Amino acid sequence: MPADLPPPGVVSEVATGVRRILAPNPGPMTGPGTNTYLVGQSEVAVVDPGPDEPAHLDAVAAAGGGAIRWILVTHHHSDHAPGASALAQRTGATVLGRGGAGAFRPGMTIDEGHVLRVGGSEVVALHTPGHASDHLCYLRPEDGLLFSGDHVMDGSTVVIAPPDGDMASYMDGLRRLAALPGLSAIAPGHGALITEPYRRLASYLDHRLDRERAVLHALDRMGRATVEDLVAAVYTDVPDSVHPVARFSVWAHLRKLADEGRAAASDPDDVGATWRSAR
Ligand SMILES: [Zn+2]
Repeated sequence: MPADLPPPGVVSEVATGVRRILAPNPGPMTGPGTNTYLVGQSEVAVVDPGPDEPAHLDAVAAAGGGAIRWILVTHHHSDHAPGASALAQRTGATVLGRGGAGAFRPGMTIDEGHVLRVGGSEVVALHTPGHASDHLCYLRPEDGLLFSGDHVMDGSTVVIAPPDGDMASYMDGLRRLAALPGLSAIAPGHGALITEPYRRLASYLDHRLDRERAVLHALDRMGRATVEDLVAAVYTDVPDSVHPVARFSVWAHLRKLADEGRAAASDPDDVGATWRSAR
């Protein structure tokens, strides 16, 4: 666990007026666990309540000290959204999110550009699909702090799992975030605060472009290949345990390449399809 991440249940201040509590759900996909943030003091917006874990939600509610008015959810995944309704019951807060994916139903549906006023600050929603179709990042413009949910993480790999996950949208989202002026730090859904946001965004994009080139190169070389064949050819640098995730990534890259006319399959919606180069 990074030095910057105290154990679950401990409140730590990560930026001015922003506190973080780690949920007790570590794992291969969640790293140390889900970060729940409390933004503001006199009025508080919670970002990502995490799983429906009573001890965690009790700790978040206690840290809020009766001031939690809003619960902002980045996306519907099981490690981010399910605690929302139970935290709302504890606090009377309104649950905000984009909705439209999975089982998560926000009390108030918000979308790109929604501005929430929290105490003297503003928090702006940015629609960043790719990891999940309903994914919102939240930006505090006054100091350029970005709550990135699972679009950008620290220490673990972002999974792009079609069909709700979409590689082209994901990479567009990275470019969009990299073009935002004045980012000071990224508060990710998993891992430590990222204090060099532009460097991290650039390396994320480079990594995806490298993989895309490698997938296309392997496909050209093999002529016809399945996702499995391409994982074996391209992911030579990662342990087999990562291959289930790699399968989703390769499939997501192939679907993007198909949309661009650079690869083709009889059924891009079938993870078991045989692909060919279309160049
Ligand atoms: Zn997620």
